[in-house]
Amino acid sequence: MSRVTRRPRFVAGNWKMHRTPAEGAALARECVALAAADAAGATRVQVAVFPPFPALSAVASAIAGSGVRLGAQNLHPEPQGAFTGEVSGPMLAAVGCSLVLVGHSERRHGMGETDAVVAAKTRAALRDGLTPVVCVGETLAERESERTAEVLVRQVTAVYAGLSAAQAADTVVAYEPVWAIGTGKVASPEQAVEAHRIIRATLDQVVGAEAGGSMAVLYGGSVNGDNAAALFAHSEVDGALVGGASLQAAGFWRIAAAAAAAP
Ligand code: PEP
Repeated sequence: MSRVTRRPRFVAGNWKMHRTPAEGAALARECVALAAADAAGATRVQVAVFPPFPALSAVASAIAGSGVRLGAQNLHPEPQGAFTGEVSGPMLAAVGCSLVLVGHSERRHGMGETDAVVAAKTRAALRDGLTPVVCVGETLAERESERTAEVLVRQVTAVYAGLSAAQAADTVVAYEPVWAIGTGKVASPEQAVEAHRIIRATLDQVVGAEAGGSMAVLYGGSVNGDNAAALFAHSEVDGALVGGASLQAAGFWRIAAAAAAAP
C-alpha cells in the first residue's frame, strides 16, 4: 500500500437501463433501510445511486433525508437548447442530482463519445454544480497489446488538462477496464492497483499532487460482494462503481460494507 492516509470511501451503483420509477424507488428505499441498519458502516462510506433519467425524481424522494446521494448516468454539455432527446446538467440538479457519470465505456464505445466529448461533459457538470464521475479504462485489445498505460494517460489528460486544481478536486475518477464491465471478469487487485497508480500519477502531473491526491479513484468492472474486500484492501482503491450487483440492495450493501470495513 503506497499511501498511509485513506481518502473517503465511495461506492456508487450504476443502474444502467434498469428499473422503472416505482421499481427504482423500491430499490432505493431498501438501500436506505440497509444504510440505516448499518449506521457504523454508513458513516465510513459515501453511497450513491445512478438510476435512469425517468426514475431520478422517484428515487430522489425515496432517499430524501438519508445519506445516499443521487447521480445521473449522462448529461449534455450545453445547459439548454435544440438537442432532442438530451438532458442537461441544470435539469439533473433540479431533480436532486449531485453527481453524474461521464465517459462510461458503454457511451464511449457504444455511442461514439470521444475524449473531447467526455472533457466537455466534465466541464459542463462542474459548471452546473454536479460532481462528475469520470470513467476511464482500456479495452481487452488495448490491454493485450500492452497499451493500458498509454490509454489511461490519454483519457485522463484529455479531461484534466483543461481543469484547475480546484475543479479537479471536485471530481471522482472511475477506472473501469472495458473487458471487466458486465462480463463477470473482475480485474485482479494487482491489475487494479497498477492502473490506479498510473491514473494517480497522471493526475498528480496534470492538476498537481494536492488536488490529485485528494480525489477518489474508484474501481469498476464486475465488482460484487465476494470480490469487493480484496480490491478495497488496497489503499489505491477508494471505492467502486458497481453495475449489475447494484440492482439488488443486499448485494450492493455488502459492497458498501466491505468498503467501510477496509483497513
Ligand atoms: C458499470 O456499469 O459501470 C459496471 C462496472 O458494471 P458491472 O459492475 O456490471 O461490471
